[in-house]
Amino acid sequence: MQNIARSLLACSLAFFAGGLQADQQTGTRCRCNTRCLSRSQSGGWFTYRSENFELRSRTVLSDADYIVRRCEETRSVLLATWMPPFADKAWVTQCTVVVHTSAGAYSHQTGANAATKGVSSLEINDGRVWKRRVDLLADAPGWCDAVIPHELTHIVLADRFTAHQIPRWADEGFAILSESGNRLAESLHLVDISNRSGELIPLRDLLTASTYPQPPSRAKLFFAQSAAFSAFLAQDHQELLALRFAETGSEKGYDKATTDCAAATDLEDLDAQFHVWLRQRDVEAPKLVKQNADRREAILSTATMID
Ligand SMILES: [Zn+2]
Repeated sequence: MQNIARSLLACSLAFFAGGLQADQQTGTRCRCNTRCLSRSQSGGWFTYRSENFELRSRTVLSDADYIVRRCEETRSVLLATWMPPFADKAWVTQCTVVVHTSAGAYSHQTGANAATKGVSSLEINDGRVWKRRVDLLADAPGWCDAVIPHELTHIVLADRFTAHQIPRWADEGFAILSESGNRLAESLHLVDISNRSGELIPLRDLLTASTYPQPPSRAKLFFAQSAAFSAFLAQDHQELLALRFAETGSEKGYDKATTDCAAATDLEDLDAQFHVWLRQRDVEAPKLVKQNADRREAILSTATMID
């Protein structure tokens, strides 16, 4: 039996050291009508809990109810999409979500540049996820609607990759699919420009990259091209097939993944199909984008603030 211990960080190469100490809980129950929160204050931290999340902040969060429910609903959408058999199952280990209200505090705690807006960290060992944590920077209106779906995609997908490292392209590409349609549209636009100038990352290099390429402009293209290739694989609601391609590629290589999980004779054929798709793609937003938009509307229409 393989015994793999690793920490994964998404969207940032930085590593946060240490961890937060569990506080003594003296919580009260709120009166929200669907997913009740408990809240507590200890050691300078305000903590709000739902079934699968523990939200923490150094300051009182007036929109804590919305954030926690956004996390729960996003998790439900992501599980239904990527791991349907687990859609109704709660995590044994809650995901800690730390909200930082200043760029300085965010960067100090995570070591990440404030431009990243979110950092996910996981501890995986003995075939299971032992720790889930997301650090978020809340520095602008509407901050959580893009970054929560993105970071929680990293968290949710980790349960499918406890024996093998999730490919970097799939981790970021699938996460961008979970964001708004604007982010995918921006990614496709950049890929179109790079394609016309002959600067796209060769497909095999994209699929086998274990780190973000440099310089930053190349890293930006890596994110965009990962999103475009993920959207290509997942077209016509084939997210599970796209995930199987990533899993097989991670375990057995992409020649095997191409013949087993894609309607292509080899990787060059798959690359040719990708380029045809880039020229002729359907402009309709992928299923994930629409689902997230629908969920967000549902939350906004029912959200109640904790008292
Ligand atoms: Zn990411």
